[in-house]
Amino acid sequence: MKMQPKFSSFFLLFILFISGTTNGQSNKASRLEMVYTVSMEQPESNTFQVVLNCGGLSENYYDFKIPVWMPGYYQILNYANDIKNLKISDLKGNPVKWDKANHNTWRVYSGGVKAIELNYEVKTNRSFVATNYLNSERAFIAPTGLFMHVADQINVPVTVHIKPYRGWNRIATGLEKIKEFTYHANDFDILYDSPILIGKLEELPFFTVKGVPHYFIGYQLGDFNKEAFMADLKKVIEAAVAVIGDIPFKDYTFIGIGPGGGGIEHLNSSAVAFTGSKSLDKPGGRMGILSFLGHEYFHHYNAKRIRPIELGPFDYDNGSRTNMLWVAEGVTTYYDEMLLRWAKLESSEQILVNFQQAIKKYETSPGSLFQAVSQASYDTWSDGPFGRIGDEVNKTVSYYDKGPVMGMLLDFKIRHETKNKKSLNDVMRTLYYTFYKKENRGYTEDEFRKVCEQTAGGSLAEFFSYIYTVKTPDYVKYLNYAGLTIDVKPRVMEGAWHGIHAAVVNDSLRVRDVDWNSPAWIEGIRRNQVIASINGQPASKTLLDQITKQNHPNDRIKIETFDRGKKAIIPMLLGKKSETSFEIKRLSRPNELQKIILKSWLKE
Ligand SMILES: [Zn+2]
Repeated sequence: MKMQPKFSSFFLLFILFISGTTNGQSNKASRLEMVYTVSMEQPESNTFQVVLNCGGLSENYYDFKIPVWMPGYYQILNYANDIKNLKISDLKGNPVKWDKANHNTWRVYSGGVKAIELNYEVKTNRSFVATNYLNSERAFIAPTGLFMHVADQINVPVTVHIKPYRGWNRIATGLEKIKEFTYHANDFDILYDSPILIGKLEELPFFTVKGVPHYFIGYQLGDFNKEAFMADLKKVIEAAVAVIGDIPFKDYTFIGIGPGGGGIEHLNSSAVAFTGSKSLDKPGGRMGILSFLGHEYFHHYNAKRIRPIELGPFDYDNGSRTNMLWVAEGVTTYYDEMLLRWAKLESSEQILVNFQQAIKKYETSPGSLFQAVSQASYDTWSDGPFGRIGDEVNKTVSYYDKGPVMGMLLDFKIRHETKNKKSLNDVMRTLYYTFYKKENRGYTEDEFRKVCEQTAGGSLAEFFSYIYTVKTPDYVKYLNYAGLTIDVKPRVMEGAWHGIHAAVVNDSLRVRDVDWNSPAWIEGIRRNQVIASINGQPASKTLLDQITKQNHPNDRIKIETFDRGKKAIIPMLLGKKSETSFEIKRLSRPNELQKIILKSWLKE
């Protein structure tokens, strides 16, 4: 992805003039030549050896940098900590002076020499889609954590030679191949967006969509019906491509890095934790993986190319904060759900159940009262990808929960306002063709809203209040647009409520969680306390559960707790719990427009 602003021809002339007068000596005008060689001769040491040959030098010093994060994973990873044993010399082998300028910058005093060689090691310790990993079975390169760039020279082309460990015969990457084990990237944005997997890899049967090959190559892919799986994956990819209509690359690769969790989207590839097994042969097991892969794939549109303006060009030194991950992540989650339906792999009824569960999860989390989804996006760097889960009360929300629900409401609103002539797909297409294709840049928050409102043909003030505030969405109204009803009436549950969720750990009953504002919460019972007795009897999970079933609201109980050596007897008045089902059903007598919207949304 080229992300320079487009220069006017006048400005280009101006640049040429400036560089002409300085005889090509200016930092910006000189062209560095960067060639990397990555080897892995002792995989059991978990350490890569990296050599960078850097030519075309003309300045007195250069700052070499390693990013602090990987775009797509919005957390600081401090890759620089794993760079070890840096040695720098000129081409005759004479040492070149350098020092550490800050946590991720090495200042190299090249004064006079035209070319230098940097040698360093990269230590690895866990297999994860955002980190480097090397062991005796495979190597995974997370490029932002392995390749240094020169400050302000992200646009320099780069060549990468890989020297696989002996016997390893295969490389999976989205990078352009020049010859065996040698790759080229037009700039560091592309290199940084192209992870590399090396080993004795396996490949699933590839398929093409609109003539573009889609590969799935990985480590330990497992035993399952690979033809059937890839036939279904092809349907998901076709459904994704049908939304935008354009495929912006020559090939695409799913890179399976082995067991674990998580996936990260890239320009023409994604790195995914994947372990295939016979469970993939059953629809239940297959759907989860297909929606996960569909999610990463749809990101090559929404997040990589249709992107918030903050997400490219990236700030590799500090991370790039944005309010818009509810679109980049949340709306992608909406699509990964819908793609399964549009590919005719998931039933309409299951889709309704999935959205019911998503709404329920969000609405019953205390965070829904405290944090707007735009704020969850901005704060993800400190809160974590799924919100601040370690706190006493989780006052954060996850854009993975609220985002897809907002995607659905926005889609219904646009369909309603335009009599189903337009949908959220039109918003995605306009963003893609206007900002990515025509202007080669991201969209601002205002521009996103404007495109939505232009598509809907009117104000979406109410919808956007659900994004920027914690106001409860009018689910009934929005689902009605699509001929659906949703049960938002709280119902009192049978039995009594204490609010404690506990499990036996090392022979004692330990509190795992306490419902917010429940009787136990109000009395100060918290996570990790040990329950010693209940109403004078030794505590057990059965006894705790019995109270819920056999007691009544307003009954008094006594709970004895141990908390860091302190014993307390806590009297408690049981309460009654109410729950909202958020069950989604079809309206029994929809009008014509509602019928049309539902049919077209579910592609029935
Ligand atoms: Zn995602």
